[in-house]
Formats: sequence, C-alpha cells, structure tokens
Amino acid sequence: MEKRVLVLNLDHSPVAVVPVHKAIVLCLLEKANILSTYELLQIRTVSRSFEYPAVIRLTHYKTIPFRGVLLNRTNLFKRDNGECQYCGSKRHLTIDHIIPKSKGGKTIWTNLITACNRCNVNKGDKTPEQAGLILRSEPFKPSLSYFLAEYAERQAEEWLPFLSSRVIS
Ligand SMILES: [Zn+2]
Repeated sequence: MEKRVLVLNLDHSPVAVVPVHKAIVLCLLEKANILSTYELLQIRTVSRSFEYPAVIRLTHYKTIPFRGVLLNRTNLFKRDNGECQYCGSKRHLTIDHIIPKSKGGKTIWTNLITACNRCNVNKGDKTPEQAGLILRSEPFKPSLSYFLAEYAERQAEEWLPFLSSRVIS
C-alpha cells in the first residue's frame, strides 16, 4: 500500500498531502527536500533505491491561497468528536446554529455545533442561554493542520512533529 507524504512550505506550514511518487519527483527536480522518512521502507527501481519520504519541504516559498477546511456535516461532526455539544450524546446527531438563523445567526464554523436531535428540538428557536443549555466546548474554525494532524494520528506518526498549530486564529 502506498503511503502518503506530507508537503510543507518553505516556512514549514503544511500545504498538501501527495502520493509518494509525486513527492519523489519533486525531490528529484530539487523542488523539495526530504525532512523525514518512513523507517524500514525503501523505494527500489532497477538502478537505485530511494528513502521513502514521509515529510518533504519545498525549496521555494509557494504562495497558497487560503485553503480552509470545507464546512460540511462530516467535518463538523469530526471537529466535535461526534458528540452533542450540549449533552454529550453520540446518537441522532444534527447540526445546530448556536445563534438561530432567525436571530441573524450565520452558517459559519463558530456558530455551528453538533447537537443531538433531542437537544436541538429542546433548544428550538432560542439561544443556548435562553434554553438553559451550556456548551461543552467553544466552537472553532479548524485549520488544515488540525485535520492533517488528526489524519496523522491514524496514519503517519512521522508527520506529528511537523504539525503543531491546530487552529488558525
Ligand atoms: Zn444532546
């Protein structure tokens, strides 16, 4: 199975995750350097073998238009650990506007949370204060690093030292 390679910008901010063959090409063209490798893995061709990169860094700074994490149901549930942010239930999850739309609440990361159907219905068209509900955590806008770090925890611990910033303020 082909492992994925984390690509960092010249300033060490994560910019992408690419398949290994693409990472090798970037290194051969001297557009990137290997910062970390997967131990015990090698890539062999007829004439030579390469270390298997885990993290590479671009040799020139690349200006990247801001790429946030897509705001959708899956990513929102993931940010909230799949738990209702009022009662902690993991069942019948829905999306709740903290400040209801009818009161001008926006559809943005910081106004949306995961809520179970029961809490959502109880809250209705009220704010959490009006409904007597307390948020278990402050909703935040996750950065690309945040999700890459989550991914790395499952896939590639070699990435973790390079993924420190979890939130873009
Ligand atoms: Zn709930």
